[in-house]
Amino acid sequence: MAIATVNPSTGETVKVFEALTDEAIDSKLTLAQQAFEQHRHTSFAQRTEWLHRAAQLLVDEKERFGKIMTLEMGKPIAAAIAEVEKSAWVCRYYADQAESILADVPIETDASRSFVRYQPLGVILAVMPWNFPFWQVFRFAAPALMAGNVGVLKHASNVPQSALAIEEIFRRAGFPEGVFQTLLIRADQVPQIVADERVKAATLTGSEAAGASLGSAAGKQIKKTVLELGGSDPFIVMASADLETAVKTAVTARMINNGQSCIAAKRFIVHDAIADEFAERLVHQYAALKLGDPLDPQTDIGPLATSTILNELHQQVQACIASGAKLLTGGDPDTVPTRSIPSLQHGTFYPPTILTDLPSDSPARQEEFFGPVALLFRVPDLDSAIQLANSTPFGLGASAWTQIETERERLINEIEAGSVFINGMVKSDPRLPFGGIKRSGYGRELGAEGIREFVNIKTVWIK
Ligand code: NAP
Repeated sequence: MAIATVNPSTGETVKVFEALTDEAIDSKLTLAQQAFEQHRHTSFAQRTEWLHRAAQLLVDEKERFGKIMTLEMGKPIAAAIAEVEKSAWVCRYYADQAESILADVPIETDASRSFVRYQPLGVILAVMPWNFPFWQVFRFAAPALMAGNVGVLKHASNVPQSALAIEEIFRRAGFPEGVFQTLLIRADQVPQIVADERVKAATLTGSEAAGASLGSAAGKQIKKTVLELGGSDPFIVMASADLETAVKTAVTARMINNGQSCIAAKRFIVHDAIADEFAERLVHQYAALKLGDPLDPQTDIGPLATSTILNELHQQVQACIASGAKLLTGGDPDTVPTRSIPSLQHGTFYPPTILTDLPSDSPARQEEFFGPVALLFRVPDLDSAIQLANSTPFGLGASAWTQIETERERLINEIEAGSVFINGMVKSDPRLPFGGIKRSGYGRELGAEGIREFVNIKTVWIK
């Protein structure tokens, strides 16, 4: 895949970048290693000052950074600006919390004094996806740099300008050269970096295939990894739910980021008693969504990030219909209104789509739909809802709607996922750990757990 900015709204190739040569990668890793030797000895106060400055730069220039993201991957501009603000939030959270989270932890033993000390590991490689080009990187970098590590970023090939802008932010904020570097490289150059002895650990957010590839390369080198992979999150609505709020949230939870979020609600599992009304209201609200130019503040849904994503999604939808599923709305990219707008006619727009009555043996039940496509299921009771929710290989997040205490407890205990949100949509928050189980990956980002992933948890025993 070429490293390039291709505007998904128009199909225009805006800028192409050359991948780094082996020599250039080598000198950047040397710089990273040298930077680590200095950075590990800087004080928390110093790192805090730099990271707060990075947060301020993000806020001050949020429109500029937002436009870069919208240009490269098509998210609506308001969402892009909100993402820049959220990236500032994670910087501020770790700037303020890192020192206390990483303070020595005294533990009473037979020693005169024993405690745990958290120390940085060194150069950490982050392989990141295009869907949240700023947020995904900042939620890795803010804790990593506060812990005293240094970062090298291999961003997705379709967001090179976002990747370069992020490097520039850390430099302008005052972090010394080499503490955070963007490597413009192809995916096939990742294994050599994982194998390099200067790189101590790696984190990847992306598909299962990429995660398995990085995880096995790192495993061969006995290096720690964190993997944040795909999801097919259930959105369970029981009969006692506040239906109006549930439907409204269901639309947002599926459509966020033009439907391309790992924690988007993808399977709507609704109790029989309210299923017809839920479906009717969902179809109605889908119809009101405005598809169009993501730079227009009135637009709800922009294009998918690439033509490959559009083609794969459409194939999944067609396969569902061929296997007997019923189409309630959408499903045909040739009918989107942007086709008649000359500047957008080559854009990768996909209509909001709802499928229901998927046969029980449909392979699509096991798949992630990465776009504005909702799968709707009916269930007779809570047992069936939980069983269906757990019936995919994924285990990222889950949203469940009920007013009944006993149902709530069962959902919290029995859903196989890294998070359960009751009467709300799944979202990330710097204060809460984020991550999955099963094929959604392992390890955690954010919260106290996130910053402790890439540290040496050193036991100290003194007599
Ligand atoms: P992707 O193709 O796996 O790409 C993600 C990153 O991995 C990109 O930088 C990509 O580089 C790189 N990559 C791809 N193949 C690789 C390999 N064999 N070895 C090393 N690096 C490799 O994923 P995507 O399609 O961009 O992103 C969508 C997926 O990410 C979805 O499944 C979504 O659910 C998941 N996701 C998960 C989370 C989470 O927190 N759990 C968050 C966001 C997204 P190139 O661009 O150069 O190929």
